[in-house]
Amino acid sequence: MKILRRGRKCKTKGKRERGQPKEGPLYQYYAQVTYNTCERCLRRHGEIFSELAQGPPIHPGCRCSYLELPPGELDYYREKGERMRAKAEAELRRRELFRRAKELLVGGEPEEALALFERAAAIEVYVEEVEQLCREDLVALRRERELAAKLKKIFIWGYRDTLQKSKYEGMPEGMKWARERWGVQRLEELFDGIISG
Ligand SMILES: [Zn+2]
Repeated sequence: MKILRRGRKCKTKGKRERGQPKEGPLYQYYAQVTYNTCERCLRRHGEIFSELAQGPPIHPGCRCSYLELPPGELDYYREKGERMRAKAEAELRRRELFRRAKELLVGGEPEEALALFERAAAIEVYVEEVEQLCREDLVALRRERELAAKLKKIFIWGYRDTLQKSKYEGMPEGMKWARERWGVQRLEELFDGIISG
């Protein structure tokens, strides 16, 4: 009897809360955090909003999504939102470091460039972005092969290190391992091609 009552309560609870006009549904903004996410979307990652009109997509090609928050769990999603915001901010910092590092690399200041690339890699390494770097700055990298060898080390270290971080906490060990192998192999190929080419 108790169980039955509790069950009934649960069923009506959701409906009633959803129907309440003064406390309408809330949504959380999810951007896909990667090296080329647009800044506007990134800055809203984790944001809680109430009007669907404020939700994604906010531009053509936007890959953001949103989640309707279950009633009564707002505190949990607020906390989650804080972590999401921190992650988005870290990505913005990383981008800035990477951008400045690239400038220094092309500008002929390799040691300064390496230091900044290392700080960027400590936050996250996106293999596709490193591929882009190798394509765009091939001339600068070929000119200084020792530099390319150092960069290879930095990116592989960063890739392995960040893979162990929270983003992949829930990932099964086997998948983590496969992903690590794929990324490290790709980074090795990229730089070995430059060093020996
Ligand atoms: Zn977006």
